Amino acid sequence: MLQKVTSLAAACLAYVTAFLAPVQAQERSATTIFENVRIFDGKTAALSAPSNVLIRGHLIERIAQDPIPADRRSDTQIIAGGGRVLMPGLSDVHWHAMLVRPTPAQLLSSDIGYTTLLAGEEATATLMRGFTTVRDMGGPAFSLKRAIDEGILPGPRIYPSGAVITVTGGHGDFRELADLPRTLGGPLSRAEQLGGSIVADSPDEVRKRAREQLMQGASQIKLTAGGGVASPFSPLDVTTFTEAELRAAVEVATDWGTYVATHAYTPSAIQRSIAAGVKVIEHGHLMDETTARLIAEKGIWLSTQPFTDLGGAAVLPPDQQQQMMQVVRGTDLMYNLVKKYKIKTAFGTDILFSKALAERQGQAIVDLTRWFTPGEALIMATSKNGELLSLSGPRNPYPGKLGVIEQGALADLLLVDGNPLENINLIADPTNKFLVIMKDGVIYKNTIPR
Ligand SMILES: [Zn+2]
Repeated sequence: MLQKVTSLAAACLAYVTAFLAPVQAQERSATTIFENVRIFDGKTAALSAPSNVLIRGHLIERIAQDPIPADRRSDTQIIAGGGRVLMPGLSDVHWHAMLVRPTPAQLLSSDIGYTTLLAGEEATATLMRGFTTVRDMGGPAFSLKRAIDEGILPGPRIYPSGAVITVTGGHGDFRELADLPRTLGGPLSRAEQLGGSIVADSPDEVRKRAREQLMQGASQIKLTAGGGVASPFSPLDVTTFTEAELRAAVEVATDWGTYVATHAYTPSAIQRSIAAGVKVIEHGHLMDETTARLIAEKGIWLSTQPFTDLGGAAVLPPDQQQQMMQVVRGTDLMYNLVKKYKIKTAFGTDILFSKALAERQGQAIVDLTRWFTPGEALIMATSKNGELLSLSGPRNPYPGKLGVIEQGALADLLLVDGNPLENINLIADPTNKFLVIMKDGVIYKNTIPR
């Protein structure tokens, strides 16, 4: 049945994409040469001397200051860079591909087909903002990922987590009080049926639910180890899973060669996650000094975002607005601790339920410059994110190097009109400033003036 629904959703996507065709991928040339570009390689905050870059298939084959001759045996597309900046595609390692466009009410009342179609259009918009990779931290994104990978519609690479695993009443339990109590083995809620989240209240249940996500192709497992700003039944201060439950997920993920990431704001939720073997902490905005030191010492990744204003807070009830303010204040402390303890930090936005907010995805990188230099912010959103993504090991759906421009890396590239290391605001204006967008060696946009 699930298989049937999956292929139906993919077929719907194909039809709508063919019909509307908002963005056309070019046929991939056997080789592409970017001529006369200055390279920001994703690792160092500096530009190279004017260079040429040869792409063969989906990989960067050669980078040279001397001219690279076109391959006579095959078609070569030449892109005249005109001295502009070539940089790696951006990534967002805390994304919810299926949850960006619909409202929560739409999500729970629609069938998965409608939600997937909305997500398809959003996926194309995401790629057109220069985000060539996203790590999906919860939602039924497997069919969307498949359709993108099959070339049915343009979109970013997706590292899916599948359903978020939560405890009864935890962040991600979308049931109403009227749905309680659930009999043991009772029917699944709507959010669970859709694959958005799934409740587990013992190590055994956690194992089952984690394995179900891996069975569908999850590249990592996501659990909510503590409460959330907008969760009706678990305030921000609450610690949810027991250490044994978290460890059950870690054991399953480890057996599959991958890792567990937990939603955790507070010292208690973070510390318990680390004790259980969790490799990546999502958010972390309320961490204290002791916790920051622990994260650094253990080499744990922090995947977080700058919550800098109260965007969207107005619609929240007063107690949740309070929690939102706590997180905004925590953002400043957290990034200062990140710098003090040199915590391995990745960038993601966690944008939900708003097309308008999604259009500001690149602005979130600009917002990082309250704490970091433009170079540091861009390195985070490219090579650092790429390092984090590689933790999926054998479950990595896109083996190869991401977020860097170097020989042998995957060819996800942006040609920028201007130097983002000097003017970071260019990143927030992808329509006008990203002249070429390439993913996996395929050009999805080329507006270089002729
Ligand atoms: Zn999230």
